[in-house]
Amino acid sequence: MNNNFVDRIKAEVSEIEAAGLFKQERIISSVQSAHIMANGKPVLNFCANNYLGLSSHPKTIEAAHQAIDNRGYGLSSVRFICGTQDIHKELEQKISAFLGTEDTILYCAAFDANGGVFEPLLNEQDAIISDELNHASIIDGVRLCKAERHRYKHNDMQELEEKLIATQHCRSRMIATDSVFSMDGTIAQLDKIVALAEKYDAIVMIDECHSSGFIGKTGRGVHEHCGVMGKIDIITGTLGKALGGANGGFTSGSKAVIDMLRQKSRPYLFSNTLAPSIVGASIAILDMLSETTALRDKLEQNTLYFREQITNAGFDIKPGIHPIVPIMLYDAPLAQKMAARMLEEGVYVVGFFYPVVAKGNARIRVQISAGHEREDLDKAIAAFTKVGKELGVIK
Ligand SMILES: *Cc1c(COP(=O)(O)O)cnc(C)c1O
Repeated sequence: MNNNFVDRIKAEVSEIEAAGLFKQERIISSVQSAHIMANGKPVLNFCANNYLGLSSHPKTIEAAHQAIDNRGYGLSSVRFICGTQDIHKELEQKISAFLGTEDTILYCAAFDANGGVFEPLLNEQDAIISDELNHASIIDGVRLCKAERHRYKHNDMQELEEKLIATQHCRSRMIATDSVFSMDGTIAQLDKIVALAEKYDAIVMIDECHSSGFIGKTGRGVHEHCGVMGKIDIITGTLGKALGGANGGFTSGSKAVIDMLRQKSRPYLFSNTLAPSIVGASIAILDMLSETTALRDKLEQNTLYFREQITNAGFDIKPGIHPIVPIMLYDAPLAQKMAARMLEEGVYVVGFFYPVVAKGNARIRVQISAGHEREDLDKAIAAFTKVGKELGVIK
Protein backbone atom coordinates (compact mmCIF):
# COMPACT_ATOMS: atom_id res chain seq x y z
CA MET A 1 0.00 0.00 0.00
CA ASN A 2 1.25 3.46 -0.87
CA ASN A 3 0.43 5.44 2.28
CA ASN A 4 1.43 8.81 0.83
CA PHE A 5 -1.10 8.35 -1.91
CA VAL A 6 -3.89 7.28 0.46
CA ASP A 7 -3.09 10.22 2.79
CA ARG A 8 -3.32 12.66 -0.12
CA ILE A 9 -6.71 11.29 -1.17
CA LYS A 10 -7.91 11.36 2.47
CA ALA A 11 -6.95 15.02 2.72
CA GLU A 12 -8.80 15.81 -0.52
CA VAL A 13 -11.93 14.02 0.70
CA SER A 14 -11.70 16.02 3.95
CA GLU A 15 -11.63 19.21 1.90
CA ILE A 16 -14.85 18.15 0.17
CA GLU A 17 -16.39 17.49 3.59
CA ALA A 18 -15.15 20.81 5.00
CA ALA A 19 -16.72 22.66 2.06
CA GLY A 20 -20.06 21.01 2.89
CA LEU A 21 -20.10 19.24 -0.48
CA PHE A 22 -19.74 15.62 0.62
CA LYS A 23 -22.60 13.59 -0.84
CA GLN A 24 -24.20 11.35 1.77
CA GLU A 25 -26.31 8.45 0.55
CA ARG A 26 -29.57 7.58 2.27
CA ILE A 27 -30.27 3.86 2.45
CA ILE A 28 -33.54 2.62 0.98
CA SER A 29 -34.82 -0.70 2.29
CA SER A 30 -37.91 -1.03 0.11
CA VAL A 31 -38.64 -1.11 -3.61
CA GLN A 32 -38.35 2.21 -5.49
CA SER A 33 -41.77 3.82 -5.41
CA ALA A 34 -43.76 6.87 -4.31
CA HIS A 35 -43.69 5.40 -0.79
CA ILE A 36 -40.32 4.11 0.37
CA MET A 37 -38.35 3.21 3.49
CA ALA A 38 -35.39 5.61 3.68
CA ASN A 39 -32.91 5.32 6.57
CA GLY A 40 -35.42 3.02 8.26
CA LYS A 41 -38.33 5.46 8.07
CA PRO A 42 -41.40 5.46 5.80
CA VAL A 43 -41.34 8.57 3.57
CA LEU A 44 -42.94 9.95 0.45
CA ASN A 45 -40.42 9.99 -2.37
CA PHE A 46 -40.26 13.17 -4.46
CA CYS A 47 -36.74 12.82 -5.86
CA ALA A 48 -36.73 9.80 -8.17
CA ASN A 49 -36.68 9.84 -11.97
CA ASN A 50 -39.52 7.33 -11.69
CA TYR A 51 -41.76 9.62 -13.77
CA LEU A 52 -44.30 6.99 -14.79
CA GLY A 53 -44.15 4.96 -11.57
CA LEU A 54 -42.85 1.95 -13.53
CA SER A 55 -39.75 1.13 -11.44
CA SER A 56 -41.66 -1.42 -9.42
CA HIS A 57 -44.88 -1.65 -11.42
CA PRO A 58 -46.35 -5.21 -11.34
CA LYS A 59 -46.14 -5.42 -15.15
CA THR A 60 -42.46 -4.44 -15.12
CA ILE A 61 -41.60 -7.04 -12.50
CA GLU A 62 -43.65 -9.76 -14.18
CA ALA A 63 -42.02 -9.14 -17.58
CA ALA A 64 -38.56 -9.13 -15.98
CA HIS A 65 -39.30 -12.47 -14.26
CA GLN A 66 -40.50 -13.96 -17.53
CA ALA A 67 -37.37 -12.84 -19.36
CA ILE A 68 -35.18 -14.40 -16.69
CA ASP A 69 -37.15 -17.65 -16.98
CA ASN A 70 -36.96 -17.72 -20.78
CA ARG A 71 -33.64 -16.04 -21.59
CA GLY A 72 -31.65 -16.37 -18.39
CA TYR A 73 -29.81 -14.00 -16.09
CA GLY A 74 -26.93 -12.79 -18.23
CA LEU A 75 -25.13 -13.40 -21.51
CA SER A 76 -21.47 -13.15 -20.48
CA SER A 77 -20.65 -11.48 -23.77
CA VAL A 78 -20.65 -8.28 -25.72
CA ARG A 79 -23.26 -7.96 -28.45
CA PHE A 80 -21.11 -8.89 -31.45
CA ILE A 81 -19.65 -12.08 -30.01
CA CYS A 82 -22.62 -13.91 -28.49
CA GLY A 83 -24.56 -11.24 -26.61
CA THR A 84 -27.44 -10.59 -29.01
CA GLN A 85 -30.71 -12.39 -28.26
CA ASP A 86 -33.93 -12.16 -30.24
CA ILE A 87 -35.31 -9.89 -27.49
CA HIS A 88 -32.46 -7.36 -27.92
CA LYS A 89 -33.40 -7.00 -31.61
CA GLU A 90 -37.09 -6.81 -30.66
CA LEU A 91 -36.44 -4.03 -28.14
CA GLU A 92 -34.36 -2.07 -30.67
CA GLN A 93 -37.23 -2.28 -33.16
CA LYS A 94 -39.78 -1.22 -30.53
CA ILE A 95 -37.73 1.82 -29.54
CA SER A 96 -37.34 2.81 -33.22
CA ALA A 97 -41.11 2.46 -33.77
CA PHE A 98 -41.84 4.44 -30.59
CA LEU A 99 -39.49 7.29 -31.56
CA GLY A 100 -40.25 7.23 -35.29
CA THR A 101 -36.68 6.41 -36.35
CA GLU A 102 -35.15 3.75 -38.63
CA ASP A 103 -32.96 1.88 -36.20
CA THR A 104 -31.72 1.79 -32.59
CA ILE A 105 -28.64 0.48 -30.79
CA LEU A 106 -28.74 -0.51 -27.10
CA TYR A 107 -26.12 0.35 -24.49
CA CYS A 108 -25.81 -0.49 -20.81
CA ALA A 109 -26.46 3.16 -19.93
CA ALA A 110 -27.26 6.47 -21.60
CA PHE A 111 -23.88 7.58 -20.27
CA ASP A 112 -22.37 4.99 -22.63
CA ALA A 113 -24.68 5.98 -25.50
CA ASN A 114 -23.49 9.59 -25.20
CA GLY A 115 -19.91 8.50 -24.60
CA GLY A 116 -19.91 6.46 -27.79
CA VAL A 117 -21.95 8.55 -30.21
CA PHE A 118 -19.60 11.35 -31.34
CA GLU A 119 -16.22 9.73 -31.92
CA PRO A 120 -17.34 7.16 -34.54
CA LEU A 121 -19.31 9.71 -36.59
CA LEU A 122 -17.15 12.85 -36.59
CA ASN A 123 -13.45 13.69 -36.84
CA GLU A 124 -11.14 16.74 -37.13
CA GLN A 125 -12.94 17.85 -40.30
CA ASP A 126 -16.16 18.35 -38.33
CA ALA A 127 -17.55 20.48 -35.48
CA ILE A 128 -19.81 19.87 -32.49
CA ILE A 129 -21.87 22.79 -31.20
CA SER A 130 -23.05 22.07 -27.70
CA ASP A 131 -25.39 23.78 -25.20
CA GLU A 132 -23.25 24.87 -22.23
CA LEU A 133 -25.54 23.10 -19.74
CA ASN A 134 -25.47 19.71 -21.44
CA HIS A 135 -25.24 16.58 -19.29
CA ALA A 136 -21.81 15.37 -18.16
CA SER A 137 -22.06 12.32 -20.44
CA ILE A 138 -22.39 14.54 -23.55
CA ILE A 139 -19.44 16.63 -22.37
CA ASP A 140 -17.35 13.48 -21.89
CA GLY A 141 -18.47 12.04 -25.24
CA VAL A 142 -17.46 15.26 -27.00
CA ARG A 143 -14.06 15.14 -25.27
CA LEU A 144 -13.42 11.71 -26.78
CA CYS A 145 -14.06 12.99 -30.31
CA LYS A 146 -11.58 14.85 -32.49
CA ALA A 147 -14.12 17.28 -33.93
CA GLU A 148 -13.81 21.04 -33.21
CA ARG A 149 -15.70 21.96 -30.02
CA HIS A 150 -17.99 24.96 -29.76
CA ARG A 151 -20.35 25.90 -26.94
CA TYR A 152 -23.34 28.20 -26.98
CA LYS A 153 -24.97 29.92 -24.02
CA HIS A 154 -27.76 27.84 -22.55
CA ASN A 155 -30.81 27.90 -24.78
CA ASP A 156 -29.45 30.96 -26.66
CA MET A 157 -30.55 30.53 -30.29
CA GLN A 158 -28.75 33.67 -31.42
CA GLU A 159 -25.42 32.38 -30.17
CA LEU A 160 -26.14 28.95 -31.67
CA GLU A 161 -26.66 30.65 -35.04
CA GLU A 162 -23.38 32.58 -34.64
CA LYS A 163 -21.54 29.30 -34.01
CA LEU A 164 -23.21 27.73 -37.05
CA ILE A 165 -21.99 30.65 -39.16
CA ALA A 166 -18.49 30.46 -37.66
CA THR A 167 -18.15 26.73 -38.49
CA GLN A 168 -19.29 26.82 -42.11
CA HIS A 169 -15.85 25.63 -43.24
CA CYS A 170 -16.38 22.27 -41.49
CA ARG A 171 -17.54 19.12 -43.29
CA SER A 172 -20.34 18.26 -40.82
CA ARG A 173 -21.65 20.36 -37.93
CA MET A 174 -23.56 18.60 -35.15
CA ILE A 175 -25.73 20.53 -32.72
CA ALA A 176 -25.88 18.57 -29.44
CA THR A 177 -28.40 19.34 -26.69
CA ASP A 178 -30.24 17.83 -23.77
CA SER A 179 -33.88 18.07 -24.72
CA VAL A 180 -34.78 18.59 -21.05
CA PHE A 181 -32.26 20.19 -18.67
CA SER A 182 -32.53 18.33 -15.41
CA MET A 183 -31.80 21.11 -12.89
CA ASP A 184 -34.47 23.51 -14.18
CA GLY A 185 -36.87 21.27 -16.09
CA THR A 186 -36.27 23.59 -19.06
CA ILE A 187 -37.26 22.19 -22.44
CA ALA A 188 -34.93 22.83 -25.39
CA GLN A 189 -36.41 24.84 -28.28
CA LEU A 190 -36.17 21.97 -30.74
CA ASP A 191 -38.40 23.64 -33.33
CA LYS A 192 -35.96 26.56 -33.53
CA ILE A 193 -32.92 24.30 -33.37
CA VAL A 194 -34.23 22.19 -36.25
CA ALA A 195 -34.97 25.35 -38.29
CA LEU A 196 -31.40 26.56 -37.74
CA ALA A 197 -30.01 23.13 -38.61
CA GLU A 198 -31.98 23.16 -41.87
CA LYS A 199 -30.82 26.68 -42.67
CA TYR A 200 -27.14 25.84 -42.12
CA ASP A 201 -27.15 22.19 -43.21
CA ALA A 202 -26.27 20.93 -39.70
CA ILE A 203 -27.08 17.69 -37.86
CA VAL A 204 -29.19 17.62 -34.67
CA MET A 205 -28.41 15.27 -31.78
CA ILE A 206 -30.69 15.31 -28.71
CA ASP A 207 -30.54 13.55 -25.35
CA GLU A 208 -34.06 12.52 -24.33
CA CYS A 209 -33.27 11.05 -20.91
CA HIS A 210 -35.78 13.25 -19.05
CA SER A 211 -38.55 13.01 -21.65
CA SER A 212 -38.82 9.63 -23.41
CA GLY A 213 -42.10 8.05 -22.37
CA PHE A 214 -43.97 11.09 -21.09
CA ILE A 215 -43.31 14.42 -22.83
CA GLY A 216 -45.49 15.07 -25.89
CA LYS A 217 -49.14 14.09 -26.44
CA THR A 218 -48.29 10.39 -26.75
CA GLY A 219 -45.10 10.47 -24.67
CA ARG A 220 -42.64 10.13 -27.56
CA GLY A 221 -40.53 12.95 -26.20
CA VAL A 222 -39.61 16.58 -26.78
CA HIS A 223 -39.43 16.06 -30.56
CA GLU A 224 -43.16 15.27 -30.41
CA HIS A 225 -43.82 18.16 -28.01
CA CYS A 226 -42.06 20.61 -30.36
CA GLY A 227 -43.59 19.19 -33.54
CA VAL A 228 -40.31 18.00 -35.08
CA MET A 229 -40.71 14.21 -35.07
CA GLY A 230 -38.76 12.73 -37.97
CA LYS A 231 -36.50 15.81 -38.16
CA ILE A 232 -33.95 14.86 -35.50
CA ASP A 233 -30.88 13.03 -36.80
CA ILE A 234 -29.80 11.33 -33.58
CA ILE A 235 -31.70 10.66 -30.35
CA THR A 236 -30.06 9.22 -27.25
CA GLY A 237 -32.05 8.15 -24.21
CA THR A 238 -32.18 6.00 -21.10
CA LEU A 239 -34.15 3.00 -19.89
CA GLY A 240 -33.12 4.03 -16.38
CA LYS A 241 -35.62 6.83 -15.77
CA ALA A 242 -39.27 6.84 -16.92
CA LEU A 243 -38.92 3.64 -18.98
CA GLY A 244 -38.57 1.25 -16.05
CA GLY A 245 -35.70 2.72 -14.07
CA ALA A 246 -33.22 -0.20 -14.12
CA ASN A 247 -30.32 0.40 -16.52
CA GLY A 248 -29.80 0.75 -20.19
CA GLY A 249 -29.51 3.41 -22.82
CA PHE A 250 -29.90 3.73 -26.53
CA THR A 251 -29.05 5.74 -29.60
CA SER A 252 -31.68 5.96 -32.32
CA GLY A 253 -31.57 7.42 -35.82
CA SER A 254 -31.04 6.53 -39.45
CA LYS A 255 -29.95 2.99 -40.30
CA ALA A 256 -26.57 4.12 -41.65
CA VAL A 257 -25.70 5.94 -38.41
CA ILE A 258 -26.71 2.97 -36.23
CA ASP A 259 -24.79 0.56 -38.51
CA MET A 260 -21.67 2.67 -38.03
CA LEU A 261 -22.12 2.79 -34.25
CA ARG A 262 -22.40 -1.03 -34.12
CA GLN A 263 -19.03 -1.19 -35.94
CA LYS A 264 -17.15 1.54 -34.09
CA SER A 265 -18.81 2.70 -30.86
CA ARG A 266 -16.47 1.65 -28.08
CA PRO A 267 -18.90 1.34 -25.12
CA TYR A 268 -20.97 -0.99 -27.36
CA LEU A 269 -18.05 -3.04 -28.65
CA PHE A 270 -16.17 -3.40 -25.39
CA SER A 271 -18.87 -3.64 -22.71
CA ASN A 272 -21.34 -6.37 -21.85
CA THR A 273 -24.79 -6.70 -23.38
CA LEU A 274 -27.89 -5.53 -21.52
CA ALA A 275 -29.34 -8.18 -19.15
CA PRO A 276 -32.35 -10.13 -20.49
CA SER A 277 -34.56 -9.12 -17.53
CA ILE A 278 -34.12 -5.44 -18.40
CA VAL A 279 -34.70 -6.07 -22.09
CA GLY A 280 -37.87 -8.08 -21.45
CA ALA A 281 -39.28 -5.51 -19.03
CA SER A 282 -38.47 -2.64 -21.43
CA ILE A 283 -40.36 -4.38 -24.24
CA ALA A 284 -43.42 -4.79 -22.00
CA ILE A 285 -43.19 -1.13 -20.94
CA LEU A 286 -42.99 0.16 -24.52
CA ASP A 287 -45.96 -2.03 -25.46
CA MET A 288 -47.94 -0.57 -22.57
CA LEU A 289 -46.99 3.03 -23.41
CA SER A 290 -47.87 2.49 -27.07
CA GLU A 291 -51.31 1.13 -26.16
CA THR A 292 -52.38 3.80 -23.67
CA THR A 293 -51.31 7.27 -22.59
CA ALA A 294 -52.95 6.82 -19.16
CA LEU A 295 -49.71 7.06 -17.17
CA ARG A 296 -48.28 10.10 -18.98
CA ASP A 297 -51.71 11.76 -18.72
CA LYS A 298 -51.78 11.14 -14.97
CA LEU A 299 -48.24 12.51 -14.67
CA GLU A 300 -49.29 15.63 -16.60
CA GLN A 301 -52.27 16.17 -14.28
CA ASN A 302 -50.17 15.56 -11.17
CA THR A 303 -47.56 18.03 -12.42
CA LEU A 304 -50.12 20.73 -13.21
CA TYR A 305 -51.76 20.28 -9.80
CA PHE A 306 -48.50 20.36 -7.86
CA ARG A 307 -47.13 23.38 -9.76
CA GLU A 308 -50.40 25.26 -9.17
CA GLN A 309 -50.73 24.39 -5.47
CA ILE A 310 -47.11 25.06 -4.57
CA THR A 311 -47.30 28.44 -6.33
CA ASN A 312 -50.54 29.25 -4.46
CA ALA A 313 -48.74 28.40 -1.21
CA GLY A 314 -46.38 31.28 -2.00
CA PHE A 315 -43.29 29.45 -3.25
CA ASP A 316 -41.12 30.72 -6.07
CA ILE A 317 -40.79 27.97 -8.69
CA LYS A 318 -39.24 27.85 -12.14
CA PRO A 319 -42.26 28.01 -14.45
CA GLY A 320 -42.82 25.29 -17.02
CA ILE A 321 -44.65 22.03 -17.73
CA HIS A 322 -42.04 19.46 -16.73
CA PRO A 323 -42.47 17.19 -13.67
CA ILE A 324 -39.10 18.52 -12.49
CA VAL A 325 -40.24 21.39 -10.25
CA PRO A 326 -37.39 23.53 -8.88
CA ILE A 327 -38.44 25.37 -5.71
CA MET A 328 -36.09 28.34 -5.63
CA LEU A 329 -34.45 29.25 -2.30
CA TYR A 330 -31.23 30.86 -3.67
CA ASP A 331 -29.37 30.18 -0.39
CA ALA A 332 -27.36 26.91 -0.09
CA PRO A 333 -27.54 26.34 3.70
CA LEU A 334 -31.28 27.09 3.56
CA ALA A 335 -31.77 24.48 0.81
CA GLN A 336 -29.93 21.91 2.92
CA LYS A 337 -31.87 22.82 6.06
CA MET A 338 -35.18 22.68 4.26
CA ALA A 339 -34.49 19.26 2.70
CA ALA A 340 -33.53 17.90 6.15
CA ARG A 341 -36.69 19.33 7.76
CA MET A 342 -38.85 17.94 4.92
CA LEU A 343 -37.41 14.47 5.55
CA GLU A 344 -38.38 14.81 9.22
CA GLU A 345 -41.88 15.63 7.98
CA GLY A 346 -41.83 12.42 5.92
CA VAL A 347 -41.11 13.89 2.48
CA TYR A 348 -37.87 12.97 0.73
CA VAL A 349 -36.57 15.83 -1.46
CA VAL A 350 -33.04 17.00 -2.18
CA GLY A 351 -31.43 20.43 -2.03
CA PHE A 352 -29.17 21.42 -4.92
CA PHE A 353 -26.56 24.16 -4.69
CA TYR A 354 -23.22 25.20 -6.19
CA PRO A 355 -21.44 23.56 -8.00
CA VAL A 356 -24.43 21.49 -9.23
CA VAL A 357 -26.31 24.73 -10.02
CA ALA A 358 -24.97 28.30 -10.38
CA LYS A 359 -23.93 30.19 -7.21
CA GLY A 360 -26.90 31.94 -5.58
CA ASN A 361 -29.37 29.58 -7.30
CA ALA A 362 -29.82 26.97 -4.58
CA ARG A 363 -33.09 25.14 -4.71
CA ILE A 364 -35.07 22.07 -3.76
CA ARG A 365 -35.78 19.97 -6.82
CA VAL A 366 -39.10 18.16 -6.64
CA GLN A 367 -39.86 15.39 -9.13
CA ILE A 368 -43.48 14.41 -9.69
CA SER A 369 -44.49 10.89 -10.69
CA ALA A 370 -47.56 9.14 -12.05
CA GLY A 371 -47.02 6.90 -9.01
CA HIS A 372 -48.11 9.76 -6.73
CA GLU A 373 -51.76 9.91 -5.70
CA ARG A 374 -53.54 13.20 -5.01
CA GLU A 375 -53.22 12.66 -1.24
CA ASP A 376 -49.43 12.21 -1.64
CA LEU A 377 -49.22 15.54 -3.47
CA ASP A 378 -51.39 17.21 -0.81
CA LYS A 379 -49.19 15.82 1.98
CA ALA A 380 -46.06 17.14 0.28
CA ILE A 381 -47.62 20.58 -0.26
CA ALA A 382 -48.75 20.70 3.40
CA ALA A 383 -45.24 19.75 4.55
CA PHE A 384 -43.63 22.36 2.28
CA THR A 385 -46.04 24.98 3.61
CA LYS A 386 -45.32 24.10 7.25
CA VAL A 387 -41.53 23.99 6.82
CA GLY A 388 -41.52 27.00 4.48
CA LYS A 389 -43.26 29.13 7.15
CA GLU A 390 -41.00 27.83 9.90
CA LEU A 391 -37.88 28.78 7.91
CA GLY A 392 -39.30 32.12 6.75
CA VAL A 393 -39.38 31.14 3.05
CA ILE A 394 -43.09 31.96 2.78
CA LYS A 395 -45.41 34.05 4.93
C1 LIG B 1 -29.57 10.53 -16.45
C2 LIG B 1 -29.01 11.12 -17.66
C3 LIG B 1 -28.04 10.46 -18.42
C4 LIG B 1 -27.44 9.14 -17.97
O1 LIG B 1 -28.36 8.11 -18.07
P1 LIG B 1 -27.95 6.66 -17.55
O2 LIG B 1 -28.76 5.72 -18.39
O3 LIG B 1 -28.28 6.61 -16.10
O4 LIG B 1 -26.49 6.50 -17.80
C5 LIG B 1 -27.61 11.03 -19.59
N1 LIG B 1 -28.10 12.23 -20.00
C6 LIG B 1 -29.02 12.91 -19.29
C7 LIG B 1 -29.54 14.22 -19.78
C8 LIG B 1 -29.50 12.38 -18.09
O5 LIG B 1 -30.38 13.06 -17.37
